[in-house]
Amino acid sequence: MRITIDALPLLFRSAGVKNYLYYWIRHLQREPAADVRLFPFLGEAAGLDHRKALAGPMATFFRLGLFFLMNRLPGGFSRSCFPPTDVFHSTRILNPPKRAKLTATIHDLTCWILPDTHLAANVQFERRYADRIWRRADGLIAVSENSRNDAVRLLNIPPERMYLMKASIKSNGLNAYVSGIGATKRIVVWDTTAGRIPNDEVLFIFAHESGHYVLHHIPKGIVCMGIAAFFVYWGCAACAGWLVRRFGQRWGASELSSRTGFVVLLLALSIASFLLEPVGNALSRHFEHQADVFGQEAIHGIVADPRKTTVAAFNALGDAWLDDPNPNPFIEFWLYNHPSTQHRAEFAAHYDPWANGQHGEFFAR
Ligand SMILES: [Zn+2]
Repeated sequence: MRITIDALPLLFRSAGVKNYLYYWIRHLQREPAADVRLFPFLGEAAGLDHRKALAGPMATFFRLGLFFLMNRLPGGFSRSCFPPTDVFHSTRILNPPKRAKLTATIHDLTCWILPDTHLAANVQFERRYADRIWRRADGLIAVSENSRNDAVRLLNIPPERMYLMKASIKSNGLNAYVSGIGATKRIVVWDTTAGRIPNDEVLFIFAHESGHYVLHHIPKGIVCMGIAAFFVYWGCAACAGWLVRRFGQRWGASELSSRTGFVVLLLALSIASFLLEPVGNALSRHFEHQADVFGQEAIHGIVADPRKTTVAAFNALGDAWLDDPNPNPFIEFWLYNHPSTQHRAEFAAHYDPWANGQHGEFFAR
């Protein structure tokens, strides 16, 4: 049986749904009778990382662009993008393939029950999604008895069309993040963080996120990416032009402005995005380190021993995410968008500007 799964959350920095989807796909792939394909063209899902996409930056960019068009252009466009399939599982796609059996997973109905805790745009999307997918689906998967009952009650979805999945694989990890710009700017701490580690450590995690917020890391990141993109695209165009002049004859790409020329341009872009990964990660690690310093300074005077609390919080996070306790320095340099847990804890253990009457970098006390 050919099963196509809309795997958009794998391209996001996400946790609950991503975790669930990832392990569900891995289990399905082990079924001999199931031929599982991940849409859009994601190949094998391997290496779950909550903090980044499962594909490279360029690959993610193109796929997100495709998703955007599929949900906005008339349905015919979307349907022409799918490979032939018997079952389609939608996660965010509003225009599923016509001939396949349609299914989707209901995680929760908090957009109906607690609309105030969601962004208006999310509530609107969820409602549209429920009309287009949940109501039309041949069968649905609910992740808990509660979600199933809520769907029956609020959406009038017949219970016999819903299957319950014991979602013990849903995340119980710890996390917090800052996201959005303008009106959507927010700090989020997962409820799984509170209650699982001491309050002092939750306070540090919140203080770290406040650091990102107060120090404007998101707009700074966007500006840096914007400036870098200008030079990177210019460089890639020049490089692709050279490749076409040098090898174009052999590759059947007579000009950069031809279709094959466009593929050469994509080649240059993917090489550049691979080579520039450490640059983006170094910038991200710099911001993370600043937020760590800010966080540790913010809890000074509030908790008994900021150094001990901070180190304990890093250890708890490292534990929860099964971080490599001692990563290879080259791997850390190339791939890590946060300093390794070990480096963060080491710095925290020795950071004490107040020892000889001084004060920290961000607070005058
Ligand atoms: Zn951070």
